[in-house]
Amino acid sequence: MKGLLRAEGVRTALTYILALAMGQLWDAPWLWLTLASTGLLCLHLYYAGRLMHWAAEPKKRDLPDGSGIWRGIYAASLNRYRQARKRKKRLAGMLAEFRASTAALPDAAVVLDPQGQISWFNGAAAALLGLSSGKDLGQRINNLLRHPDFTAYCASFAERREGVEIPSPVMEGGTLLVRLIPYGRQQRLLIARDITVFKRLEETRRDFVANASHELRTPLTVVRGYLEMMGDELDAAPVPGKWAEPVRAMRKQAARMQQIVHDLLTLAALEDVRRPAAKEVLDMPQILLEALQEAQRLSDGEHRFVQEIEPELNLYGTAGEIRSVVANLLGNAVRYTPAGGTITLQWERCDGQAVLRVSDSGIGIPARDIPRLTERFYRSDVARSRETGGTGLGLAIVKHALERHQAELRIDSTVGRGSTFICIFPAVRSPLSESSSRA
Ligand code: ADP
Repeated sequence: MKGLLRAEGVRTALTYILALAMGQLWDAPWLWLTLASTGLLCLHLYYAGRLMHWAAEPKKRDLPDGSGIWRGIYAASLNRYRQARKRKKRLAGMLAEFRASTAALPDAAVVLDPQGQISWFNGAAAALLGLSSGKDLGQRINNLLRHPDFTAYCASFAERREGVEIPSPVMEGGTLLVRLIPYGRQQRLLIARDITVFKRLEETRRDFVANASHELRTPLTVVRGYLEMMGDELDAAPVPGKWAEPVRAMRKQAARMQQIVHDLLTLAALEDVRRPAAKEVLDMPQILLEALQEAQRLSDGEHRFVQEIEPELNLYGTAGEIRSVVANLLGNAVRYTPAGGTITLQWERCDGQAVLRVSDSGIGIPARDIPRLTERFYRSDVARSRETGGTGLGLAIVKHALERHQAELRIDSTVGRGSTFICIFPAVRSPLSESSSRA
């Protein structure tokens, strides 16, 4: 390009020298200089015009050869044009592939702009969410998916990675799992998956466990009743007969089975209710004192109990479920703490939240077991659990009951030194009472 520029400069200079020479010869230098300038200007305008003509429709027209510096400008423009075409073709190919792959996705994908309006969606979104490109592009997603759980999720999706389950807007009895994923400049990608089959399977499993437990309850009550009667008779006999020991073992196992059935039914009932727990005002100090008395009975004087209960701190919730949480945690503390140990119950406000802490100086739990403790029938110390009449369901019940109160369970434990179970209730579940707010 530099060479062409130099040659153009030489050509222009030569034109003017020639014009000057002609001007001297004809004694009209200004006329010849003007003629030379006009000629050069027309030449450049002609080439610029051809370039513009070609650039208007480069696909249809050929760019002719230019001369001088225009040859370089034409070649560079053509080169740029070909590169841009190649890039465009590649991008179009990628876009087509992306469209084809998203169209093949079984999950609905919807792109939302910063205002929550729909800018694009795939084929599955039309089928699962009932979107239509004719009328729904540019609409706010909240106007189309109006379920209250989805609205609440939109307000707090940054903290909720698991998404939200909502009834399908197009399929009767269907369930969708919807997630919002932020990306780019405040844009969001909405992914919706049809989980109807999983939901039905889960319901079937839950119903089966609940029905089986329910069916087992009556025969077990009968068996246990007769065993109690037999046991009482054998105990009253002056000499213990050969059946005294087997009947005692049967009574113990029947009681355990009854407790398992009871816990399974409690769990099924907790899972069955979809709505969050009720919001009746609970007299927590009273509930905690009753649970503590029950734990002391279980301990039979073998442990030292410490209590730190804020008398003004109440809770909004369901009494039965909260009683079950406290009873299970205190019961475990007694069962997994050797005689002479200390059990502490604390109920206090911490950073606006209400916190329940049950600590013990017991056997502790290995770190690898802690994440799995709330699974049904998961036991860290199987022998001790069985020996003390454990069902392996206590912490699963605690977890479910707490979830229904939007509360979180944390477990701190060190083997040989003891454990602390912490239940953290959000501020909405423990409003400041009138007297405490006055104070
Ligand atoms: P279980 O009826 O077996 O006690 P849970 O669901 O209540 O069932 O507890 C699950 C397991 O967690 C128990 O088997 C036990 O190994 C462990 N665990 C629960 N609480 C404590 C505790 N306070 N100290 C030590 N281990 C505990």
